[in-house]
Amino acid sequence: MKITALETLKLSRMHELERQWITSQYRTIKADCAVVLIHTDEGVTGIGEACAYGNPTLIEEWVNWLSPTLIGKDPSDPSIVPHTNYRSWSYDCAVAGIDCAWWDLRGKIEGKRVSELLTDRPIERVRLYASSGCRYDWRKNPHQLIEEALEYIDQGYTAMKFRIGTHWAWDGVTVDRFLGLVRELAQEVNGRMELMLDGNQRLTEEEALQIAVDLDRLGFAWFEEPIPQTDIDGYVRLNAAVDMHITGGEQFTTLEQFRPYIERHAYGIVQPDVGWCGITEGMRIAEMAHRYGIDCCPHSWHNGLMCMENGHFVAALPNPRVLELCMIQGPLQWGMLQQQPIENGYLTLSDCPGLGVDLADDVAARFPYVEGGYAIQVQR
Ligand SMILES: [Mg+2]
Repeated sequence: MKITALETLKLSRMHELERQWITSQYRTIKADCAVVLIHTDEGVTGIGEACAYGNPTLIEEWVNWLSPTLIGKDPSDPSIVPHTNYRSWSYDCAVAGIDCAWWDLRGKIEGKRVSELLTDRPIERVRLYASSGCRYDWRKNPHQLIEEALEYIDQGYTAMKFRIGTHWAWDGVTVDRFLGLVRELAQEVNGRMELMLDGNQRLTEEEALQIAVDLDRLGFAWFEEPIPQTDIDGYVRLNAAVDMHITGGEQFTTLEQFRPYIERHAYGIVQPDVGWCGITEGMRIAEMAHRYGIDCCPHSWHNGLMCMENGHFVAALPNPRVLELCMIQGPLQWGMLQQQPIENGYLTLSDCPGLGVDLADDVAARFPYVEGGYAIQVQR
């Protein structure tokens, strides 16, 4: 068997006005998707979703640039797959898309699920956490956060992660005011769901410590990216200061980037995203973290195919815990696929080989790509 072509499928869907959401100072106006396809001369095709944060148009350019190194090669040879290098976000996303498509292709050739290629004993169902809490607006209705959490409980989710809301300076939000809302949320949830907070690197270390102590006391599962990622010393101090895990690393695409954070226990859990770093590099990161007693709970945003990639990855981990599911991506998320294998807060990995899903037949016509950024900066 030989690889004959690589292709990038770019998809978008504009959010309806009421579905647009603001976090910090950015209003997200559309959902994007980039799928890499690896075609072969025997009609078998591998598919992999590359993280759209790398910009679908730039991802397509990098895939085209890398294509000659794969075309004509035997797809069973792992040495043909390029490596992430953290020099360009778009390049690494393109490589991740190729890597995931290669794993899907390999699974289809060998008649095995990707999780079975990664480990002898994969789990069959992966627990999902509802990831959002992005829509509450400090000016208009901060309690929307609580309403949203209760909806996820009704839908069967056993965990939820939320963010710190719109830009605090717009409405004079303080740590104390934020913690007031967090305590109300914890009281309403009343132990029915695990809770996690994502700071999106927006806090100072002093603010983060005050919040971390309270979250720890409230039994939160983790506190993600509280402070700027480059402040490794700050992460080491915060992670040592509380029992709860301080987590991060979603934007890291190589083991080399994770290495000092793992060695110094700057993170209690690492969060690579295989749509960003590839399944191959993701396994290397998770295996090294495991040697240091650190679990891996991947970042996963965007669409259904990436959910499957990260799902097979979690299923193969030494200590599979939970997978992130974006709750605000809209109809593109699962409309791109023929299957939607989530139910009651769990992802089920089917017996089908590879990643176990197929692109919907009319996907390009239903979700035509819209050029331009997915978010706009808002003034208030
Ligand atoms: Mg995050």
